[in-house]
Amino acid sequence: MKLEDRVLLPEEGFYKANLHCHTTISDGELTPEEIKAAYKGQGYSIVAFTDHEQYRWHKELDDENFLALAAYETEMCGFETGPGCWPDLKTYHLNLFDTDPTEKQEIKAQSLRPPRRYGDMASLNEYVAAMNELGFLVCYNHPYWSLQTYEDYKDLRGLFAMEIYNYGCEHDGLYGFHPQSYDEMLRSGQKLFALATDDNHDRVPFTDPLNDSFGGFVMIAAEKLAYKSVIRALRAGRFYWSMGPELKGVSIQDGVLRVKTSPVEKIFAIQKGRDCYKQLAPRGETITDAEFPLTGKEGWLRIEVRDGKGLYAGTNAYFVEDL
Ligand SMILES: [Zn+2]
Ligand SMILES: [Zn+2]
Repeated sequence: MKLEDRVLLPEEGFYKANLHCHTTISDGELTPEEIKAAYKGQGYSIVAFTDHEQYRWHKELDDENFLALAAYETEMCGFETGPGCWPDLKTYHLNLFDTDPTEKQEIKAQSLRPPRRYGDMASLNEYVAAMNELGFLVCYNHPYWSLQTYEDYKDLRGLFAMEIYNYGCEHDGLYGFHPQSYDEMLRSGQKLFALATDDNHDRVPFTDPLNDSFGGFVMIAAEKLAYKSVIRALRAGRFYWSMGPELKGVSIQDGVLRVKTSPVEKIFAIQKGRDCYKQLAPRGETITDAEFPLTGKEGWLRIEVRDGKGLYAGTNAYFVEDL
């Protein structure tokens, strides 16, 4: 099957975003205003404010170069919040991104939480469905930090995305990078996107190597920096995740997948099965593009690149049946 020509990601026109962030409204050290100033200073245009169990829309922070997404992070561990959840119990953390904060404000302000019935997947999925209905995109966060395995997450439904990388968890020593979990979710038949996030709390200064800001981000190809445009791009998967490297265009032309990046050591196209398309730089050198002829039998594929510092970036999974 020859795949049609199409642009999967443009060469430019991205807005840099941190979609997981804590402030003084929950357990972060910085105010929303301080977060905005710091992130703008590092080239970010978008921050989703995901304070624990505190839905907020920081519209007052918006300006022509900055957009605040209304959001919150909710937890479900089967116990009331407190020492019961800590430190060795499994827990679900979900980020909820509001697609239209002008709608249903009263009920959203209640920051609804899932029923505390760990192991009752039906009730959790009912919650996710209800939140989708309310207008939230739901992201499954940091599986490894949550001490969760395949059995805990394979039956989740209604997810917009999961965190393939969480910089804060990386600093916690809990493997912030979850490519295996993402592949497992895809192989279980789910179609969902992948986010890299900071999950920053900023308990140490930006100059401290353990500071958890500016390590995981997504680059969103929105038409303009406006709430609806950004949500449209997120829903359509027009974004990529990164710890540092930049993707500079992904397309299919004449049945060939073409990838351009900032200088990296490795460009892979991971697939549903065991096959993987690979391009590696000679040792000590870098590459900036790769071309992979497609068979149309890949099932799904996703690009992953790694630079000389060991930092990764990658696309969402593209399902051949949708191309
Ligand atoms: Zn969390
Ligand atoms: Zn968090």
